[in-house]
Amino acid sequence: MKYAQLQNYVGGTFVSADVPSLEVYNPSSGAVISRVPLSAAREVDAAVQSAGAAFPKWSGTPIKERVQVFYRYKTLLEQHIDELAALVTEENGKIASEARAEVLKSAELSEFACSLPQIAPGEVLEVSRGVECRIERFPVGVVAAITPFNFPNMVPNWSIPNAIALGNCMILKPSEVVPISAGRIAELLREAGLPDGVFHVVHGGKDAVEAICDHPGIAAVSFVGSTKTAKIVYRRATSNLKRCVALGGAKNHLIVMPDADREMAATNIVASMSGCAGQRCMAASVMVAVSKTDHIIERMAEVARAMVPGKDLGPVISAAAKERIMRYIDEAESQGAKVIVDGRGVRVPGKENGYYLGPTIIDHVRPEMRIAQEEVFGPVLVIIRTKDVDEALRVENASPYGNAASVFTESGGVARYVMEHASAGMVGVNVGVPVPREPFSFGGWNESKFGVGDITGRGSIEFWTQAKKMTTKWNREAGVNWMS
Ligand code: NAD
Repeated sequence: MKYAQLQNYVGGTFVSADVPSLEVYNPSSGAVISRVPLSAAREVDAAVQSAGAAFPKWSGTPIKERVQVFYRYKTLLEQHIDELAALVTEENGKIASEARAEVLKSAELSEFACSLPQIAPGEVLEVSRGVECRIERFPVGVVAAITPFNFPNMVPNWSIPNAIALGNCMILKPSEVVPISAGRIAELLREAGLPDGVFHVVHGGKDAVEAICDHPGIAAVSFVGSTKTAKIVYRRATSNLKRCVALGGAKNHLIVMPDADREMAATNIVASMSGCAGQRCMAASVMVAVSKTDHIIERMAEVARAMVPGKDLGPVISAAAKERIMRYIDEAESQGAKVIVDGRGVRVPGKENGYYLGPTIIDHVRPEMRIAQEEVFGPVLVIIRTKDVDEALRVENASPYGNAASVFTESGGVARYVMEHASAGMVGVNVGVPVPREPFSFGGWNESKFGVGDITGRGSIEFWTQAKKMTTKWNREAGVNWMS
C-alpha cells in the first residue's frame, strides 16, 4: 500500500481506532493505496468530547484573532498545491489541472473566511431614548461536516474555514472512498496555528454518520452527497433537534437556443459534461436543444470526440460506478436514443485497470427515459429536442432536482425568462457550470438541498452562528423608567 492505514485525528493527534477497515483504491489503476477505519459511535464520541473541551477557549477568542489561522492556512494550501493536487488525483482520479483548480478553490474559501470580521459584526440601534437593542452572533458549538467523494479537498473546505472562523469546533467525516486528503487538511490547519481540539477527522461510513446525527453534543451538521443520503441525514439530524443543511444530487439542464454562439456553447457544454469525468453536482446532464440547433450539436460532437481519456479526463470513481453508467447508456440506446459520441470501451494505454469512460453524447432522448430523469454522475450528456423555450422549461421544471440550470443564447430577453422560470437554485447564462463564487453562497433547490440556509459564502454566517438579541437601558439617558 502506498499510504499507511489511515487514523482519526482527535485533539491534535492521529489516533488508531480498533474498528474494521475498508480498502481505498486509486481509480486510475485499480490499485489498493490505503485502508480507512470504519469508525462508529465510540470514535465519534471521543471527538465530540475533545471538541467540547476546546470550545470555550476557541469561541472566546476574538474573531479577528481566529481568522489569522485562515490567512496562514490559505498560504499553506497555495504553497502545497502540487502535493495536495497529486493526492486528490491519487484518490479521486481527476486529472492534474482539475485537482489544482479544486485546491485553489479551497484557498478562495479560506480567503473568504478571512473577511468574516468585516461582514459578520452585529447590529445596534437606540430603539428608544436611552434604550439600545443589539444583535450579536455566537458560534453554535460543536459542529460536523459530512462530505462526498467527488471533491476530497474542496468540499470539506466549504465548511471548515467559515464554521471554525465563526468560533465553532468541528468534526469532519470525509467520504470513506477518498479519505486521504482529510489528514493533510488536519496537518495544514495545525501548521497554520489552529489550537488542538478545534478540528477533528473521524473516518467511516454509515455508522459514523448515524452517530454524528444522534450525538447530543453536536449542534449542527452540514452534509454534501447524494439526495438519498441527504434525506436520511437531514431527517435524522433534525429529528435529534440539530440544525442541518444537506446538499444532495443533481440533474442539471442546459437550454440551448438556436441563436447561441456556436463555439462558446459547444465548448462550454462539453467541458461542463466531461469535467471531473462528469462527477460534479454542477455538471451538464441534459441539453435541452430548442428548435434548429444541429450546427451546435455537430460541433459538440467534434469537441467531445477530440478528448483523450487519461489525458483530458480522468476515470470515474469505481468499477461499480462505471458499470452503472454503462447500463444507463445501453438502456437508452435500446429504447431508441442515438449515441452520437460513444465513450464505452475506451482503453487508456498503461492504465487498463482504471475505471475509464470517454465523453458520451446521446441524442433524441425522451423525457420519460430513466437516463433523462436520474442522476448518472459520469461523462454523459443526453439531448432532448424541444420546439420552443416553454417546452424546454417544462422539461427542466419536471426534474425533482434543482441544483443548476443554464441557457445559451444571444437574446437578453430569453436569458432573463429562463433565469426567472428555471426551477434551480443556481442559474447561468452562457455558462456551463454556473457556480457562484464567494461571497455568494452555493446551494440548489428542490431535492438538491434540504434545510434553510447555506454552508458557504455570506449566507453561511446565519447557519454557523446563533443570534443573541440584547436590550440595555441606562436610566440617566432614558429619563423615565417606562421599560421594566
Ligand atoms: P453519498 O451520499 O454516497 O455519500 C456522501 C456521504 O454520506 C459520505 O461521507 C458517506 O460516507 C455517507 N453515507 C453514504 N451512505 C450513507 C447512509 N446510508 N447513511 C449515512 N451516511 C451515508 O455520495 P457520494 O457518492 O460520495 O457523492 C456523490 C453525490 O454527491 C452525487 O449525488 C452528487 O451530486 C452529490 N454532490 C452534491 C453536491 C451539492 O453541492 N449539491 C456537491 C458534491 C456532490
